[in-house]
Amino acid sequence: MKKVIITGGAGFIGSHLSEKYIKNGWKVTVIDNLSTGRKENIKELEKNKNFYFIYGDITDFDFLKQNIKDFDLIIHLAAAVGVKYIIENPIKSIITNVKGTENILEIANIDKTPVFIASTSEVYGKNTNIPLKEDDDRVVGSTNVSRWNYACSKALDEFLSLAYFREKKLPVVIGRFFNTCGPRQIGEYGMVVPKFIKQAMLGLPITIYGDGKQSRCFTHVEDVVNAVYALCEKKECYGNVFNIGSDIQVTITELATKIVTKLKSDSLIEYIPYNKVYGSNFEDMLVRQPLLDKIRKYIEFNPEFNIDYIIKDVIKFFES
Ligand code: UDP
Repeated sequence: MKKVIITGGAGFIGSHLSEKYIKNGWKVTVIDNLSTGRKENIKELEKNKNFYFIYGDITDFDFLKQNIKDFDLIIHLAAAVGVKYIIENPIKSIITNVKGTENILEIANIDKTPVFIASTSEVYGKNTNIPLKEDDDRVVGSTNVSRWNYACSKALDEFLSLAYFREKKLPVVIGRFFNTCGPRQIGEYGMVVPKFIKQAMLGLPITIYGDGKQSRCFTHVEDVVNAVYALCEKKECYGNVFNIGSDIQVTITELATKIVTKLKSDSLIEYIPYNKVYGSNFEDMLVRQPLLDKIRKYIEFNPEFNIDYIIKDVIKFFES
């Protein structure tokens, strides 16, 4: 039986990925410090005899070294995520993202265990050259704008991963996720889909930041999880960076309208200037859309679930 260890496996994406590996007959071990991950996310998994949970922190090298032994695959998802969380906890975010990944790579390298490193579309920063291609420039703002610490720490993770691949022949594959959504994402840290759905369910104003014309390509977590699994299974993918996401743009106003309509909610839509939410030092990107040519050269990748399905699925989760 093959064995995978998933850091951040009690998180939103990690718990879905754990389920995927269990379904495919793997033994799954999760390491999570439950900072943003939740035991609730893995309560069904914990009933399975092939699933193990270890509480611990990825910044603790000795702890990792003790627990990461004899695995066929390491999937590194543990990271500080969410614009709100990053801005409110910059030190913790940078340390978790940089030191955590350094630790994982160093430990993976002991037995040359293949590793998947989760990255983010945020690394493209403000690049307006849409759709975004893996080798495109990264356009990030001043170090005074807290948001960019995430783009930079994850870019450093990518640099380090690629360096381990080139210098030490460690098999590493990197995925840049684009606005992943679905059940178990609770939106406490700034994710817009669950946040708007909760607001609409409670009849509270839907808080659109800026003019709502900015768009995102929302991707269902099942599509992301299937892509990660397929990338890790294929040798040729290692040493590469891949965009993972839907390429269908939805504006934030469209999103709000769809949610209010679907829920027949009385919520009003309220437009709030960015500076009222994040202070004067904030920058947002207008469009963030991936080019999917590269991933499609390596694996079959056709996101199955559109925004209407995502909204329905997240509503179902909050109602259950
Ligand atoms: N957003 C919004 N209202 C909110 C939360 C987010 O209008 O209450 C906007 C945010 O400014 C961004 C988009 O929704 O343009 C997506 O935000 P999220 O934090 O989900 O992810 P991002 O793509 O910014 O990392």
